Amino acid sequence: MFLTRKAEFSASHVCANPALSAEENFAIYGANANPHGHGHNYVVEVTLEGEPDPVTGMVFDLRELKEIINAEVIDPMDHRFLNREVPPFDTVIPTTENIAREIWKRLAARVSSQNARLKNVRLYETADLYVDCGEISETPCN
Ligand SMILES: [Zn+2]
Repeated sequence: MFLTRKAEFSASHVCANPALSAEENFAIYGANANPHGHGHNYVVEVTLEGEPDPVTGMVFDLRELKEIINAEVIDPMDHRFLNREVPPFDTVIPTTENIAREIWKRLAARVSSQNARLKNVRLYETADLYVDCGEISETPCN
């Protein structure tokens, strides 16, 4: 079975490669390269795959899953300027792709249990744009 929990956080970022000129960054990232940053209301969907535990009937303890997502993703990223406040985005460009990968890294070990493992991280940057990172996309995500 797949078990998915959704959570939201608001954060600002700049998408620019410091190795490139301002003109080159604007050509690649458009207004997203504005050095003063801009914000998004991110929505993350964390999907676990597993079998329900024969005793509890749950793939993973739902309260614990919420606490892990809060501790690893929401608390450190919500209302933050990702490039300046949330490593590794001081050196890694915080595109939707890279944020999804970072969320995967933060969660993978913590949500693996006898019955469950992380299957996918879906990160919406806007209502009409999202990235899948994990086995649904068949892309290694670590
Ligand atoms: Zn953006």
